[in-house]
Amino acid sequence: MTANHEPYALAPFRAEFRDPQTEAAFRNHVEPETAKHLKIALGIWAFLMLLFALLDYQDLGISTGFYILTGMRLLQAVMLVGLILLLARRPDLATSGWPVTVVAILGFPIMFVIFFIRPDIAAWNVGVICILLISIYVFIPNRLVFNNLIAIFGLVGTQVSLGIRGSEPGTLIGLVVVMSLPIITGYVASRRLQMVRRQEYALLEQVHNTNQELSEEIERRKALEVELQRQATTDPLTGLSNRRQYEMLFRRERERCARQGGAMVLGIADLDHFKQINDIHGHDLGDQALKHVAKIFLESLRHSDVLGRFGGEEFILLLPDTHINQAQVVVERLREQLSITPLVADSLSIPMTATFAITPVKVDDDNIEDIIRRADKGLYHGKKDGRNRVVVVA
Ligand code: GH3
Ligand code: MG
Ligand code: MG
Repeated sequence: MTANHEPYALAPFRAEFRDPQTEAAFRNHVEPETAKHLKIALGIWAFLMLLFALLDYQDLGISTGFYILTGMRLLQAVMLVGLILLLARRPDLATSGWPVTVVAILGFPIMFVIFFIRPDIAAWNVGVICILLISIYVFIPNRLVFNNLIAIFGLVGTQVSLGIRGSEPGTLIGLVVVMSLPIITGYVASRRLQMVRRQEYALLEQVHNTNQELSEEIERRKALEVELQRQATTDPLTGLSNRRQYEMLFRRERERCARQGGAMVLGIADLDHFKQINDIHGHDLGDQALKHVAKIFLESLRHSDVLGRFGGEEFILLLPDTHINQAQVVVERLREQLSITPLVADSLSIPMTATFAITPVKVDDDNIEDIIRRADKGLYHGKKDGRNRVVVVA
């Protein structure tokens, strides 16, 4: 199984994610909290370290032994406080594990020295070391493997110290068993905690990812809906309203204008001699010409006006809230604009014109077809009278 397939798989011994990227993301996620906990733990550690100097003093008085121990205690307290200050600036060091490990390993020898300076409390010292071993796992937020290193260092150091001081091999073996208990307990407890925190993180991430996928899917579907709606309502070549759409808009706008007492005008435009363009330049250029015309018309019309593709090279115009006189001015402008804007394609400049017919929408018009038929008659006259003109049909 590769890391990519199982990004949240945990390594059972070290209780970390197998996938280095996931592990790095996890540590990043817990960094502020870990740094905070570690600073508190280090502070308590430094405080206790100094507090125990009182016990040394009570037992040793002012003596060389006391000076050695106090010196070591001070040194360790300085290291601990130094690390606290460092963590304030580099919180990432809390999750990397090695700084606290170095401080712990450098600080541990003080416990070994006590065996030599205060041999009378050797048994107590072993007890304190055992508590220390379990505390390292439970209270110091550190990587499990590093805590194991500190624990083994403590165990071996104690054995060596007691060995030098002449303890029997039997006693030492018994001590290994005794000291293994807090180590194993600490390890198991810490391992569980590490695993649970990572499982919790994995669940959170998975929920987050699922939500993300879901919202992406929703976005995709929304876009698809918009696209389907567009395809259902527009002419694919020009992007103008198709018949279904402009008929719907016609009904809607007519009702609204009637309600608000506004006038409405319908117009049609038929390109002049369009067949020639196809015949001379080909159908593709003819299509390009249709797009060209649509663009010019759209640019000249108001946003509230409706422009539809009626047939092959015929367009329909709906001008709501417009009186026929105003419509004449508007459509005259369209005509003019088209006639002065030739289609430029394939290093050719092809002049284009259209004939327009406009007619007011009347109260007694039953449907759009009747109105179009009326306009169409005007168009016929416009073509007959020489094209490139606007015909008003009362
Ligand atoms: P006029 O209207 O000025 O009388 O002349 P016209 O040449 O435009 O005549 P008509 O309106 O009868 O011709 C319509 C031509 O439009 C027929 C066809 O070649 C062309 N046409 C219709 N639909 C399309 C289309 O979708 N693409 C292209 N390229 N040409 C089309
Ligand atoms: Mg035609
Ligand atoms: Mg035509």
